[in-house]
Amino acid sequence: MASLITCPHCGVRPKEEFTIRGDAGPVRPAPEAKFAAWDAYVHLRDNRRGRMAEHWQHSGGCRRWLVVERDTFTHEVHGVTDAADHARARAAKPAKARSSKAAKPATAAKTARKPGAGRGKA
Ligand SMILES: [Zn+2]
Repeated sequence: MASLITCPHCGVRPKEEFTIRGDAGPVRPAPEAKFAAWDAYVHLRDNRRGRMAEHWQHSGGCRRWLVVERDTFTHEVHGVTDAADHARARAAKPAKARSSKAAKPATAAKTARKPGAGRGKA
């Protein structure tokens, strides 16, 4: 079965029309931020197993950037939002609410892991 993404502008489309960028969690630091903050923003991304928000571009369609919330293990898509709308909604939330929400997917990923599924002994 083909994976389908519902673009808010174009409707239901096959995933092959999209280009994935990765974790949508990191927030762009202020221009005067220290090198470490910019280094982390540019180079460090989570690659969790489980539900997470990712940036996808509809490169074979409207070319808009989207935030796709999906399960990286089952590939089930839970929601798609235009990235500009997502950024406005995130900016409207207080920083404390953002940090508590950001912690939830990591916790969910840990609980979703099956015993013995790691890189340990087989
Ligand atoms: Zn589109």
